Amino acid sequence: MSERKTFFAEVIIPLAVKNEFTYRVPYELNDILVPGMRVIVPFGRGKLYTGIATRIHEEVPQGYQARYIEHLLDDAPIITGTQYRFWKWISSYYMAPIGDVMNASLPSNFKLASETKVILHPDFNGDTRALNERQLQIVEALEIQEILDLKSISEIVGIKTIQPIIKELIDRKIILSQEELNHRYTPKTAVYYCLDEGFHQEEELHKLLESLERGKQLEKQLEIVLYFAQKMFGKKGAEPYISRKELQEASLSVSAINTLEKKGVLRSERLQIDRLTTNQKELNELKTLSVEQQRALKEIRIEHQSKDICLLHGVTGSGKTEIYVELIREQLEAGKQVLFLLPEIALTTQLIQRLSAYFGDLVGVYHSKFNQNERVEIWNHILNDHPERFRIILGARSSVFLPFKNLGLVIIDEEHESSFKQYDPSPRYHGRDCAIVLAQMQGAKVLMGSATPSVESYYHAKSGKYGLIELKERYQGLQLPEICCADVRKERKRKTMHSHFSSFLLEEINHTLEHGKQVILFQNRRGYTPLWACEVCNWSPKCENCDVSLTYHKHSNRLKCHYCGYTSAPIGTCHHCGSNRLKMIGFGTEKIEDELAILYPDRQVARMDLDSTRSKNAYQEIISQFENRQIDLLIGTQMLSKGLDFDHVGLVGILDADMLLNRPDFRAFERSFQLMTQVAGRAGRKNERGKVIIQTGDPEHWIIQKVIQHDYEGFYTNEIVERRNYFYPPFYKMIQLTLKHKDVDTLNQSAQSLASSLRKVFKERVLGPEFPMIQRINQYYQKQIILKIEREASHTKVKERLTGLIDEFYSVPSNKAVRVVVDVDPA
Ligand code: ADP
Ligand code: ZN
Ligand code: ZN
Repeated sequence: MSERKTFFAEVIIPLAVKNEFTYRVPYELNDILVPGMRVIVPFGRGKLYTGIATRIHEEVPQGYQARYIEHLLDDAPIITGTQYRFWKWISSYYMAPIGDVMNASLPSNFKLASETKVILHPDFNGDTRALNERQLQIVEALEIQEILDLKSISEIVGIKTIQPIIKELIDRKIILSQEELNHRYTPKTAVYYCLDEGFHQEEELHKLLESLERGKQLEKQLEIVLYFAQKMFGKKGAEPYISRKELQEASLSVSAINTLEKKGVLRSERLQIDRLTTNQKELNELKTLSVEQQRALKEIRIEHQSKDICLLHGVTGSGKTEIYVELIREQLEAGKQVLFLLPEIALTTQLIQRLSAYFGDLVGVYHSKFNQNERVEIWNHILNDHPERFRIILGARSSVFLPFKNLGLVIIDEEHESSFKQYDPSPRYHGRDCAIVLAQMQGAKVLMGSATPSVESYYHAKSGKYGLIELKERYQGLQLPEICCADVRKERKRKTMHSHFSSFLLEEINHTLEHGKQVILFQNRRGYTPLWACEVCNWSPKCENCDVSLTYHKHSNRLKCHYCGYTSAPIGTCHHCGSNRLKMIGFGTEKIEDELAILYPDRQVARMDLDSTRSKNAYQEIISQFENRQIDLLIGTQMLSKGLDFDHVGLVGILDADMLLNRPDFRAFERSFQLMTQVAGRAGRKNERGKVIIQTGDPEHWIIQKVIQHDYEGFYTNEIVERRNYFYPPFYKMIQLTLKHKDVDTLNQSAQSLASSLRKVFKERVLGPEFPMIQRINQYYQKQIILKIEREASHTKVKERLTGLIDEFYSVPSNKAVRVVVDVDPA
């Protein structure tokens, strides 16, 4: 060190504060600290946080004395420079504090703060020999107190900067942060079978085969044992575990499998299927693409030469996934990383299995609910551009935050899904749009895929900004389902409705079941009945905290609020007029399930919605029961529309299309078209053409007609005109401000004053303030102001002005307690 220079570092703090903060770099770190490393810094009164140093400089802060960095946690940066630029972009585009972006990005094990609570790791074996004195002190304290925050630990141990020691204990899996415990990911599992060890030797196996050959009516069992034998001895080192799914696909008898298990020949085990390591040693060969798929693939390659983004518009079952797989393989060969983005990881086990079968350990699954250690592990592999693991990240939106170094391709499947958008907590970012920016920063190509693209994406594709590739037919020319309407208005007049079922739908259900096929019924509303109302005065029970009617749930026999979770006992008499004539209006999944059970007493009926899938493994359980045909009729909400591929669904019924169409949202038609088309796509994916019945009072509605005709183009052509005429995306960008306060008068005044100051700048682009559909949620009244800004405007400037105006708004004392939530590009 020649001269002792004084350095300062800008540090991001993991809190919802606007800026970065300047800290003094201790001399001993002068030569060591580089941007992207984690540092422990004091912030506020006596609190320590893990921050990230972003810029190191010699500019002395004016007007205050910078505090010192207390400690350095890393010997190498944990985020890259590109990542930092990406964070800055998100922060500015979505008007979110950079600390929020950091929080959303880093696995929580990376950011120990004074309030972080830790416990002993459940797997810690109690062996304390390898611990030093301080570590031992901490472990002993935790043995007594069970849970401690870092602040208390630092008091116990008597040193201030406790994070480095904690970090080491976490790395060594001796302790665990409580957050991680709460988030412990429940792995997705499937049932696998293997031959009992007693039959692994050839001799024993032969004896078994002989006895089965000799026995009467044991052909089915013999077939199964042979199947296992071939797997085990056919190829060297083959996996002795075979999934129930595979056995069924090989048309082996389920009851014979069960018998063999009872006899002790087979053992079954539930194994994790989407863990980081697959236990698959033999990878599947890639499928040979059809002529159509090859054409699409070629077009994608050509378009990608001149355009960064392509949209693959392919009908359900057209084989988009196999095309992705081919492109992934190509990237891997070129030594690149691939990000495969999905709307919701929990709902895509089938895809995880498909990709792992091709690429094995190269596939990593990343999700914010994952175990923190696994997240850190993936993070580090990506950061180091590890050549053998996690080259393909399959993830939900938060995987855009991984420290990619060598990204070649981003695939965004089901790009139209609104669940790509995060609402709470901030940053309120859109996974698809962020992935596009990420790809741009990394020089990677983007491929988006959907059977029902979002209007925005299709517009960009049509206008030539994105490459557009279309697949109009299903793989192997399989026919798209036949879609018809059941006119519930007519049937009501004729009195042929049976509760919520038209006689047309019931006939088709009977027909389908008689032919040994399964039925899916879709109703996008959970619970039993959304409304009880008084027949005399129309009164209905409302939530105490929200301005919504309570939904009756029959299984729990409670009235529930779907917004805040409030529940109450069922109400027998009208609180308004005292009448006891309360009637049920409308219907949810639970009621349909009930009625189906009565209509089809000998059939297996199941329900899939938020309520029925809350418990561990429940979702997976329902899916595999349905796959195994243990369920005849499945009723569910939109959970059913997502990426499921069943083989024996003969009929899909959409019970109430009108409810979808009549939502007060400019996207209501788009969402209805997408949802109906996607749900319909679950019918008849293999073997035979499936059928879809839409129950509606308005069969001539243009959206329903477009769904029936499988006419996305036609839907788009109409819809885009509406969007242009009414100043909606993609022609205008929207920013939605939601103001919240417990007192309605304060809220009204504040909202009025913010709106008028916005109007001075943005003129007629400001709409509102207005109460949203639901005026009060969780005791807070809400009002919304919407900004519609021309696409061509400078959005950076708009957001700067807007931020300034919100700051001004908060400088008025009476506004201080009002919460303003800013949502850019609301979903
Ligand atoms: P999409 O993603 O467009 O809905 P999928 O990729 O799921 O379509 O394909 C639908 C079905 O067709 C799947 O069961 C898949 O395995 C099968 N399939 C698609 N392409 C091929 C191919 N080239 N060879 C064999 N099977 C294929
Ligand atoms: Zn009444
Ligand atoms: Zn409520």
